[in-house]
Amino acid sequence: MSRKMLNDGEVNQTNEDDAHYDFDLFVIGAGSGGVRASRFSANFGAKVGICELPFHPISSEVVGGVGGTCVIRGCVPKKILVYGASFGGEIEDARNYGWEVNEKVDFNWKKLLQKKTDEIVRLNGIYKRLLANAGVKLFEGEGKIVGPNEVEVIQLDGTKLSYSAKHILIATGSRAHRISIPGQELAITSDEALSLEEFPKHAVVLGGGYIAVEFASIWRGLGATVDLCFRKELPLRGFDDEMRAVVARNLEGRGVNLHPRTNLTKLEKTEDGKIKATTDHGEDLIADVVLFATGRVPNTKRLNLEAAGVELDEAGAVKVDEYSRTNIPSIWAVGDVTNRMNLTPVALMEGTFFANTVFNGKPSKPDYRDVPYAVFSIPPLSVVGLSEEQAIEQAHGDILVFTSTFNPMKNTVSGRQEKTVMKLVVDAETDKVLGASMVGPDAPEIIQGIAVALKCGATKAQFDSTVGIHPSAAEEFVTMRTVSRRVPPANKPKTNL
Ligand code: NDP
Repeated sequence: MSRKMLNDGEVNQTNEDDAHYDFDLFVIGAGSGGVRASRFSANFGAKVGICELPFHPISSEVVGGVGGTCVIRGCVPKKILVYGASFGGEIEDARNYGWEVNEKVDFNWKKLLQKKTDEIVRLNGIYKRLLANAGVKLFEGEGKIVGPNEVEVIQLDGTKLSYSAKHILIATGSRAHRISIPGQELAITSDEALSLEEFPKHAVVLGGGYIAVEFASIWRGLGATVDLCFRKELPLRGFDDEMRAVVARNLEGRGVNLHPRTNLTKLEKTEDGKIKATTDHGEDLIADVVLFATGRVPNTKRLNLEAAGVELDEAGAVKVDEYSRTNIPSIWAVGDVTNRMNLTPVALMEGTFFANTVFNGKPSKPDYRDVPYAVFSIPPLSVVGLSEEQAIEQAHGDILVFTSTFNPMKNTVSGRQEKTVMKLVVDAETDKVLGASMVGPDAPEIIQGIAVALKCGATKAQFDSTVGIHPSAAEEFVTMRTVSRRVPPANKPKTNL
């Protein structure tokens, strides 16, 4: 039985006319958001169809795969490479712990690549089974909108299938954005970077965001020479400035060549098959690969959205209300294609809330407060709640900042010169912890727990009354007693770094 949503999230059960539709729900895109929404909707009794392009590690307009960006060419393969790259530092650190690493240590890129591909193929199969077990009908092909209740799936052989659906959900994600400079076709994006046949001995990375910083860490950790070029003074614009500086210091400490306030103006092929990347300072960087990590754009171009009159914003993202509904009442959208908070767990949340709203009689709006996230640099940065700058910007009263900078215990013996840095941002009046951030080993694992505390509205006094786990880095979060600084609301954040 399907249900109909009225204004302001009001949901009404209607059976009349439902029988005319082939599906209660048809989902375009089987990534994190689409798979979650379709499975949960089916579990609530909806008849669900979903379409996705055939599997391939590198996406295009004709290939993709069940599992989507996160599973096939994003979070999962990236994290596998981060694990692989972390062994480089671990082997160095092991020496002072008595490990005799005498012989030359070899690294086999093709082996790691094969293991990574095996794993994503396995996950692709699991996702297909999840859909089948939930009773969701999977179609392989490109989905298009024909009208408010009509979709079309164009299969690989060109055959077109047409279906009617009471609700349509767009969950087509995003794809890498290439900047437009001469020779741009010589650059790769994160798709190709996760599937390179040959390990790049010298890589140039353009961008200062998540993907740029993560690949700089991966390639450097695996032994490459890496030049990281970004437009600002520090990488990771939008993150806490102090933490950005720590990440930059750590990247440099591990041997990444940082080029702040630098862009690339052209790429050229050299006679020996390399790429010459020219910077806007006139410097030439010779590399095996040049990675453009310059943001992602919503996948809306080929959906034929104008046929149904679905509105897009200026970035080309599908405009939705707080329930993920577009301006056309029967068409909804979740995940990166809506360009809200482009993270897999957020797409999962949006997919879950969509299913609850439309098929479970429980209209509910996703809650974007205190969503934790991480940059998997080596070591990683993880954050929940407000940065110091955001807290000051939004504050009505004073902000208390607590910081702790220390040498992690492991480094005392290994001799690695790399500090862990933690920060808590607290509302002086209410004592509520507004934000927590950390750069250091295991930061995402630690911040996930802190996120529960923030979601519960924890105060600094409650952090202080929590007993630590000793010896651990995490215990620092409950032992920061001295205020590093007190910032009145008038002291608005510093310049744009
Ligand atoms: P980001 O938005 O994080 O960063 C884009 C970077 O590209 C910025 O440094 C930006 O510079 C730079 N840039 C943009 N346009 C240009 C240009 N014309 N010339 C030079 N530099 C440019 O994008 P990513 O591609 O790194 O990642 C895309 C999204 O994917 C992320 O925002 C995130 O939502 C998601 N993601 C999440 C991960 C995680 O959770 N760990 C991992 C990877 C991706 P500037 O700051 O100067 O504008």
